[in-house]
Amino acid sequence: MKEKSYHLETLAIHAGQVPDPTTSATAVPVYRTAAYNFRNTQHAADLFALQEAGNIYSRLMNPTNDVLEKRLAALDGGAAALAFSSGTAAIYFTITNILKSGDELISASNLYGGTFTQFDAILPQQGILTRFTPLNDFVAVESAINDRTRAIFIEGIGNPTLEVADISRYASLAKKYHLPLIIDSTFTPPTLLRPIMHGANIVIHSLSKWIGGHGTGIGGIVIDAGNFDWQDSKFTLYNEPDRGYHGLRFAHDLGELNRLAFILRLRTVGMRNQGPTLAPDAAWQFLQGIESLPVRMTRHCENALAVATFLKSHPKIAWVRYPGLEGDPCYTLAQKYLPHGAGGMVVFGVHGGSAEARRIVDHMPLFSHIANVGDAKSLIIHPASTTHSQLSDVALRDAGIQPELIRLSVGLEHIDDLLDALATGLDTF
Ligand SMILES: *Cc1c(COP(=O)(O)O)cnc(C)c1O
Repeated sequence: MKEKSYHLETLAIHAGQVPDPTTSATAVPVYRTAAYNFRNTQHAADLFALQEAGNIYSRLMNPTNDVLEKRLAALDGGAAALAFSSGTAAIYFTITNILKSGDELISASNLYGGTFTQFDAILPQQGILTRFTPLNDFVAVESAINDRTRAIFIEGIGNPTLEVADISRYASLAKKYHLPLIIDSTFTPPTLLRPIMHGANIVIHSLSKWIGGHGTGIGGIVIDAGNFDWQDSKFTLYNEPDRGYHGLRFAHDLGELNRLAFILRLRTVGMRNQGPTLAPDAAWQFLQGIESLPVRMTRHCENALAVATFLKSHPKIAWVRYPGLEGDPCYTLAQKYLPHGAGGMVVFGVHGGSAEARRIVDHMPLFSHIANVGDAKSLIIHPASTTHSQLSDVALRDAGIQPELIRLSVGLEHIDDLLDALATGLDTF
């Protein structure tokens, strides 16, 4: 199958799969299997030496996960992918597959909370320093780059005010300094944004959100565009013999596969020896989600835009942020990068403060009150009293989490029911 020539809707259903050769099963089977037979000792030796592709042990690769990886690589236009037990693990193992103690990461500051903590509090314990710069402040990015910088990290759409990254400007800076550009594209699944087309080198998604789409599992994926040259000596993990894989120099010793050095090292060092493996049952759940991802994303975006438009004209609302809403500060960037819809998240502020916002959350029908995003169900939360409750009002404002801010993840329900629910919820103060 010449997968690259199919549209995304078709790839979402077919890419990476051939009917099961033994049973002719049409749906992807769940391989609840740990290990795989070698044909003979030569076959075993070739598999271990990366001379031949094939299954060894499910910590490293599994036939169900393999379909998921190939399908997402196809959807994002990448060369290869690797699935992880969570989006958080996907990010952690990506960073530590490039940076080691003494190296520095440049990251946009408007990150998912867990990622911010990982960069701010965990990686420094391992000698990796992150320099945070405001999103799309390219003067700040350029002045943060030094001879220890090894990568740039951004999110396609970031917290808390749903700002859109100007990806191609990040990509040209990354290129100028020969640094890989890593994008967490969780809020913008491949039918909305394909960061590799705009110059990204590595794309990460939490599968737990829109890609799975039903709040039924935790997982992550890393996609390698295969477009970065790792043969620059500053990337020591790729240019010196790797004790993690019997002295292999990943940027030099893989022949034609040198361009896939990043993802091969991620699997053979990160996954093999540190073990953040995705269970095949979860991979199967995500494959079910992906089949309907294109149609679901269209509906998520339509509903979110309608919700944002409704809120904008509501007398109790002080402000609304949705990148696809005309007049939003990121509207122009959204038109450029997200022509098929600006995602399913809407944030807004009510007149008043924390108390008013909490009353609305408490009285909002239909929306589930949970700390998650990207479910078929519509979700609501008041970040200042939950995810960010340890901060003072001043600190909250500094972090952009205004006390009156309410976050919605707009689901797939009928739009009339959603607008009715919002009208009812807003009526309670
Ligand atoms: C949820 C999320 C993550 C973390 O993913 P998990 O699968 O929950 O570990 C990372 N980045 C973004 C943008 C997210 O929304």
